[in-house]
Amino acid sequence: MNVLVVGGAGYIGSHCVRKLLDAGHRPVVLDNLVFGHRKAIPNDIPFYEGDLGNAKYVDNVLDKEKIDVVMHFAAFAYVGESVTNPLKYYDNNLAKPMNLLKAMLRRDVKKFVFSSTCATYGTPEKLPITEDTFQNPINPYGQTKLDMEKMLKAVSVAHGLSFAAFRYFNAAGAAADGTIGEDHNPETHLIPLAIDAAMGKRPKLQIFGTDYDTPDGTCLRDYIHVDDLSTAHIAVFPKLDEPGQAFHYNLGTGTPQSVKEVINAVEEVSGLKVPYEEAPRRPGDPPALYANSQKAQTELDWKIQYPDIKSTIETAWNWSKNNPDGFGDKEN
Ligand code: UDP
Repeated sequence: MNVLVVGGAGYIGSHCVRKLLDAGHRPVVLDNLVFGHRKAIPNDIPFYEGDLGNAKYVDNVLDKEKIDVVMHFAAFAYVGESVTNPLKYYDNNLAKPMNLLKAMLRRDVKKFVFSSTCATYGTPEKLPITEDTFQNPINPYGQTKLDMEKMLKAVSVAHGLSFAAFRYFNAAGAAADGTIGEDHNPETHLIPLAIDAAMGKRPKLQIFGTDYDTPDGTCLRDYIHVDDLSTAHIAVFPKLDEPGQAFHYNLGTGTPQSVKEVINAVEEVSGLKVPYEEAPRRPGDPPALYANSQKAQTELDWKIQYPDIKSTIETAWNWSKNNPDGFGDKEN
């Protein structure tokens, strides 16, 4: 299949591009490189540097490439910023993808794979989270993702678009060969920050909240390997053959890890100490989020390759050790 990967130079998109190549598909990348890295994309695949806000450019890409499926990874994802600058998030995460959907429909491209998030559930009343858990986002980031899901559903009903929305839990890890990995600027995620602190690249890690109602007082999250996320996106392709279908899947391992457990795993894998200090809760952090992803495992030809946190952190550590400056193309 010819697959347009929007945001294919970013963290999850670039891993998905590799997995598409492994599976014999032909990825085409469209990325504005605001957060993406040109170096994360193999040189020999078609790469378009452009923004979904430029409707003409999007039209041109779809005219030039015969696309079968579109994947969208190009959202902004800083929760705190979405609270202070919501319009930036509504614009990028909701308004701009409309250009993409319009361009697709004009050309009869009707398969779409969307990266959604567990942030659409907000603070759930029951754990683990299933796809039927009430979606009640508590910040504009999660709201834009939920609004996208609803927009896709409406387009599906009206125009026969078939789509899958994957609600990710915490994406983590790096490619097994260590050639690509996580390189955000700014970095806010626990695992890369813990690794950086262990390597002495950053000051002490701050543990945001130690007084939660959890076994060790720190937040519980569900860390799923980025390659496992990627293979699910490809495994769903056969489901999209029939027009007008809508699928929603949680993607997590189902095993919650506390912040302290993650720190211990980083120390075990790296053989280094993670210097840390206890800090106040981070506003907007739910105490616990973890998935029931039975639905994806039952309905898709998809198996988690990294079920435990240590094997995931090993790949992240391998990437960081060999690429201490990440892709080295952006200032930290
Ligand atoms: N966290 C932390 N210190 C940090 C970054 C994150 O204690 O410097 C905690 C955060 O409060 C949350 C967990 O680690 O409970 C995962 O946070 P992350 O930002 O990686 O992902 P999120 O769950 O917010 O999407």
